[in-house]
Amino acid sequence: MKKISIVVPCYNEQEVLPLFYTEIQKVMAQIQQEHPETEFELLFINDGSRDGTLSQLREMAKADMRVRYISFSRNFGKEAGMYAGLENAVGDYVVVMDADLQHPPAFLPQMYNIVRTGEYDCATTRRVSRKGEPKLLSWFARKFYKIMNKISQTEIVDGAQDFRFMTRQMVDSILSMKEYNRFSKGIFSWVGFRTKYLEYENVERAAGSSTWSFWKLFRYALEGFFAFSTAPLTISSILGVVSCLIAFVMIIVIIIKKLCLGDPVQGFATLICAIFFMGGLQLFCTGISGQYLAKTYLETKRRPIYLVRETEKDVRKEPEA
Ligand code: UDP
Ligand code: MG
Repeated sequence: MKKISIVVPCYNEQEVLPLFYTEIQKVMAQIQQEHPETEFELLFINDGSRDGTLSQLREMAKADMRVRYISFSRNFGKEAGMYAGLENAVGDYVVVMDADLQHPPAFLPQMYNIVRTGEYDCATTRRVSRKGEPKLLSWFARKFYKIMNKISQTEIVDGAQDFRFMTRQMVDSILSMKEYNRFSKGIFSWVGFRTKYLEYENVERAAGSSTWSFWKLFRYALEGFFAFSTAPLTISSILGVVSCLIAFVMIIVIIIKKLCLGDPVQGFATLICAIFFMGGLQLFCTGISGQYLAKTYLETKRRPIYLVRETEKDVRKEPEA
């Protein structure tokens, strides 16, 4: 038997969860019909939802033995949710997908066929359009991928998503990266392996709303830069060297002016501007180093990536009468 684990991080998804469950059941039945050797496990991660998500998961787990769930003690973020899912999934293959049906379950049979033959280790999707998304956001997203791929050794494919069908080997490799500051888009790519991209048009959320505000995405983008590139440090070093050179030229010019032309130095305004400019530049560069230091600080604390409050085992064990 080949077990396929489907990992689904959920945060306040009570509206889409029933829709997702019906859809995924259809697809699971379809795959099982074509490939009778497959069996499934649905592993939901409740990332500290404040709505009815957890009670729905409890009901599902009671009724359907394929459903498992892990409920966090609070909201740890999607990255932590995916990590918990990968760590606890027992399948020969592991799928990671969103609960909001933006990752169409209809792709799963095709993905299974790609990975099953052993030609690829991972099947994933790539959005070729971003319709339904604010224009400004799309623009920033595209810029992000451009800059990221310029400054980082790790290639991050534009439009690639956290919708992945992976072999056990790849999952274990991902789990061997124990970092606390997790940036999955980079991690998936860093581990390598042969990945097949399936292209599709963006699908809008089935119900509910996205938790990603512009600022959250912006911070996530910075997270990506700092986690997968040290280019900002190089840039600040270069800025330092360049301003030293400029200063050196200016010193020579001033000395020549004073000694040869007898022209006393003047220009209060210039002086003030230069002081402010250099001060700003110094703070900016210190800030960049600070960012890396802060990440290092968090890493060295070795805090757990997530904490579990409840799992499906808690609802399945019936109290003895
Ligand atoms: N999610 C999560 N924890 C969070 C935020 C989101 O587990 O703190 C889950 C969410 O339930 C969904 C997936 O991550 O299954 C993607 O979230 P969302 O649809 O809000 O993001 P978008 O599709 O807009 O990128
Ligand atoms: Mg979504």
